[in-house]
Amino acid sequence: TVVTRFAPSPTGFLHIGGARTALYNWLLARHFGGKFLLRIEDTDKKRSTDEAIEAILNGMKWLELDWDGDAVSQAGRAERHAEVALELLEKGMAYKCFATSEELTEARETARANGGNFRGDLWRDRDESEAPGGAPYSIRIRMPREGETTIEDAVQGPVTVQNSNLDDMIILRSDGTPTYMLAVVVDDHDMGVTHIVRGDDHLNNAFRQHQIYEAMGWTPPVLAHIPLIHGPDGKKLSKRHGALGVEAYRDMGYLPSAMRNYLLRLGWSHGDDEIISTEQAIEWFNLENVGKGAARFDFDKLDNLNGHYIRNLKADALLSLIRNDLEQEVGHSLVAAEEERLIRGLPALAERAKRMPDITENASLFCNVRPLSLTENAAKALSGEDTSDLMGQVATELEAVTDWEASVIKAAIFSFAEAKELKLGKVMQPIRAAVTGGKQCGDLVETLEILGQEETIGRLRDLIA
Ligand code: GLU
Repeated sequence: TVVTRFAPSPTGFLHIGGARTALYNWLLARHFGGKFLLRIEDTDKKRSTDEAIEAILNGMKWLELDWDGDAVSQAGRAERHAEVALELLEKGMAYKCFATSEELTEARETARANGGNFRGDLWRDRDESEAPGGAPYSIRIRMPREGETTIEDAVQGPVTVQNSNLDDMIILRSDGTPTYMLAVVVDDHDMGVTHIVRGDDHLNNAFRQHQIYEAMGWTPPVLAHIPLIHGPDGKKLSKRHGALGVEAYRDMGYLPSAMRNYLLRLGWSHGDDEIISTEQAIEWFNLENVGKGAARFDFDKLDNLNGHYIRNLKADALLSLIRNDLEQEVGHSLVAAEEERLIRGLPALAERAKRMPDITENASLFCNVRPLSLTENAAKALSGEDTSDLMGQVATELEAVTDWEASVIKAAIFSFAEAKELKLGKVMQPIRAAVTGGKQCGDLVETLEILGQEETIGRLRDLIA
């Protein structure tokens, strides 16, 4: 079976690149009916925080990327990592290094001055007996010196490095703690990981990690190093261009379904398909169609997708998404009459929305918020000398409507305008301003129907006071 994992370091929020990595691993596992594991790489005690772990878990929950089993803490597995280091030592695939940091610095500088590679191998060929008794030591892996290492990357293709470029890296520090390089390999092996999808900034690590698999006689997983996300200018992704935590996208009013679709397309393709549901993504996802070039983040595309997913939401889903913000805005819990109007009115607002605030900002027009506050434009539309008089007459006209329904309301307004010899716009425009306060809505007459007779007339009469 296929086992994938997402292995974030909890040093900050779940950023957009990490979210994409998580998504691809999740999709691969779900596609094959395998497992998707989560490992928190919290070995760097100074930089790892509980808040960051929270943020990552919340981000994944928001994106609905469920992981199998409990999240694994890498720090909690330090003993096992040390055990593997000692096993490599016993096998002669690793050795003790007693070099002091001064000696290492000196050797590094000498190597650099000679234009060579520092390989950390001061004790590679020395015997433990040469070290002063009780001296601290780290454990270094004995890297091959001859030949080359080729990784068949599922995205990058074959990538080769000369073994002479690999350093005898430390796997266990002198204080007994494992290095990141060792921990990743041991954990992936022990967790049964078969496929690793991650950013191509880890490609260099892959060669070094590969040697640990070799030394232990373990089968390395399939590797897929995906190109990083760039800004629209082709440069490293900046904050302004989208290098944000996923919670920032939630707060901006993006839907998780739209985010998943967008992140999927940001580095993976299926013909010309742009709108791909999560179900389809699970069915189609593969590593072959991961792009080799850096993807460019594009807010307009994300907005368009988001608009699509917003339009596809049912009214009650829209309402539950905006309820909190809306109640805050109007200053009370929604009553049944308001909910009813919102359920009928929200789809028209969703029609032109790109982000959820586009709806929230206008939805209060369906609430009990009299007297309405007017936008500058609405105030202007109502500023004419006879306007409040005119609205009073319209109110009287609408009071006479016995069957409060769009076509009847429309007919009443039409005949009123005709009787007054006014252009329809001259009547409609101030009605719109008085009833919506300048908020956007769908068809005006339909909006009046949804608002109800009493509320509509009340809003018109408010202008006269
Ligand atoms: N913890 C690493 C990171 O957050 C990922 C390591 C890996 O995927 O192998 O960049």
